Amino acid sequence: MIKDNLIDTYKHKGMRKTLVSLLQTKGITDRKVLAAIEKIPRHYFFESAFTEQAYQDIAFPIGEGQTISQPYTVAVQSQLLNIKSGDKILEIGTGSGYQSMVLLEMGANLYTIEYNKILYERTRKFLPSIGYSPKFFNGDGTKGLEAFAPFDKIIVTAGGPQIPESLLKQLTIGGIIVIPVGGEGKQKMLKITRKSETDFEREDHGDFAFVKLLGKEGW
Ligand code: SAH
Repeated sequence: MIKDNLIDTYKHKGMRKTLVSLLQTKGITDRKVLAAIEKIPRHYFFESAFTEQAYQDIAFPIGEGQTISQPYTVAVQSQLLNIKSGDKILEIGTGSGYQSMVLLEMGANLYTIEYNKILYERTRKFLPSIGYSPKFFNGDGTKGLEAFAPFDKIIVTAGGPQIPESLLKQLTIGGIIVIPVGGEGKQKMLKITRKSETDFEREDHGDFAFVKLLGKEGW
């Protein structure tokens, strides 16, 4: 991981306040989401030369052809999940681990799964070293995590062609999945709420652009 930038100063905190104000103007109202983003040093994922970029509302490459999601996207997905402290949450696409940190700050009991072995190894070492310890898994998240199901909430942070059937099955009644679905480079953010054993309610929350969801029920 990046080792030359692991100090959190008043300057960084100031930049985070500005980012939080920007997210509020873009419609983020969940106080727990805003508090988490204000607290977490996102520049820890960047080399020191890119500290400014860490607090702009942009996605950024994290190696292995993957990206750390844009703060607004992280905020929207976290807000749509309607997280309560203690919620058992499955995250598909650990990536850098930034979204995982936001969910942990919000009180999640977090299971996170990453397909890419190198990213998995890197984040599994790095996050606990800065005090964040979800349960890490390496594998195809489109299959969910059968052994630990059901989950109160499921968040998918890569874009696929469909909602994986396995994930719907691993949701509690009343549970929520937030997932970008669509073609390459452009997806609709869907919020699916499980109303009963067989009924699912679907809401559309606008256009986003994610990296590809791979695996059995991905691309
Ligand atoms: N939540 C991350 C976003 C990372 S980008 C963050 O905050 O940084 C999406 C990630 O999903 C990539 O790391 C990619 O390797 C991973 N991914 C893609 N398909 C996957 C799958 N089927 N199962 C698990 N992870 C997957």
